[in-house]
Amino acid sequence: MRAFTYQSAGSAQAAVGGTSDKPGSSDKRGDGATVFLAGGTTLLDLMKLDVSRPAALIDIGEATQQLSVIEATAAGLRIGALAKMSAVANDTAVNRDYPVVAQSLQMAASAQLRNMASMAGNLLQRTRCSYFRDTTWARCNKRVPGSGCDALEGMNRLHGVLAVSEQCIASYPGDFANVFVALDGSVEVLGPRGARTIRAANLHLASGDSPAVETTLHPGELITALYIPSGPHTRRSAYVKVRDRQSYAFALTSAAVAMDLQGGTVRDVRIGLGGVAGKPWRSAEAEAVLRGQPFSEALASRAGEAAFARARTREHNAFKPQLGALTLVRALMQVHGMEV
Ligand SMILES: Cc1cc2nc3c(=O)[nH]c(=O)nc-3n(C[C@H](O)[C@H](O)[C@H](O)COP(=O)(O)OP(=O)(O)OC[C@H]3O[C@@H](n4cnc5c(N)ncnc54)[C@H](O)[C@@H]3O)c2cc1C
Repeated sequence: MRAFTYQSAGSAQAAVGGTSDKPGSSDKRGDGATVFLAGGTTLLDLMKLDVSRPAALIDIGEATQQLSVIEATAAGLRIGALAKMSAVANDTAVNRDYPVVAQSLQMAASAQLRNMASMAGNLLQRTRCSYFRDTTWARCNKRVPGSGCDALEGMNRLHGVLAVSEQCIASYPGDFANVFVALDGSVEVLGPRGARTIRAANLHLASGDSPAVETTLHPGELITALYIPSGPHTRRSAYVKVRDRQSYAFALTSAAVAMDLQGGTVRDVRIGLGGVAGKPWRSAEAEAVLRGQPFSEALASRAGEAAFARARTREHNAFKPQLGALTLVRALMQVHGMEV
């Protein structure tokens, strides 16, 4: 690991303003930049691999008391950025009112990681593409902009089929972020220029022409909290994850579904898909098929097909559209059968 300086901040304000350096955006390689350290379960790995090369870390762990409150009100769920994944996964109100949130976290990583990792860090985790994480591969537009993409013709079984480009086919690996985007969440952010709110739909960027730029956070901006509005759909919700092992594995495909079902008709539905796209993915196409229709398994299958109608596959991931569609159908059937 390369040398870096280390500083601890006791509050969000101190983290953002307490350095003479200009903190760098945490979504770039970070050569020479100052970045925030939360649980460190992603950042330190990437530094050891020499993929991330920040010059300075600001440890925000001491701000835990300020930034880890979980608050469920009638209006919605507010989660401090430093709340541990395990704390949110085990929270009674979250399990009752937002089961899809709890399940996405319970199925992520391992118990040890969930005890260490923060919610904001979870959102900002980076792709597991091996051509990105292994610096012996020369071509990775995410790691070295303009160098190319070795995954296009390489081992691309885990790669994305939606929101990918000729510059990058890496998939976004996290679970919870797909729920967050489906439930129309938002992050509260504090930066050198003040506070602002970013909708989950606008936080992550698709690969496009600039795969190295992954989020719309500005340099030095700290996520302070995550917010999810409540609605008639949030209780009837579930997360289904398909993976190579039943635990401690990233999703091959996953589906987050929240549904407002009235007398057998889908009044509203929110759908997030994981393991299949270059960013946390909300499927407007699948939602449109279901909304306003009497629910049936045939309708769920049509929604699955619609979700992947625009998929672009490569040599090793041609199975993903079908598996992704079946994963969505399973999640829809599960949610339809729930008693709420
Ligand atoms: C072996 C393994 C398996 C895993 N499996 C899964 C899985 O199945 N599903 C899943 O979803 N995840 C999985 N993960 C990812 C894991 O959930 C993340 O590593 C973790 O959530 C990151 O949180 P952290 O607090 O440790 O973040 P850190 O590593 O501290 O930070 C991650 C990034 O976020 C930035 N950052 C952190 N907090 C803030 C903030 N408040 N504001 C702005 N920037 C910030 C950091 O600068 C850094 O760039 C796995 C990880 C490992 C190592």
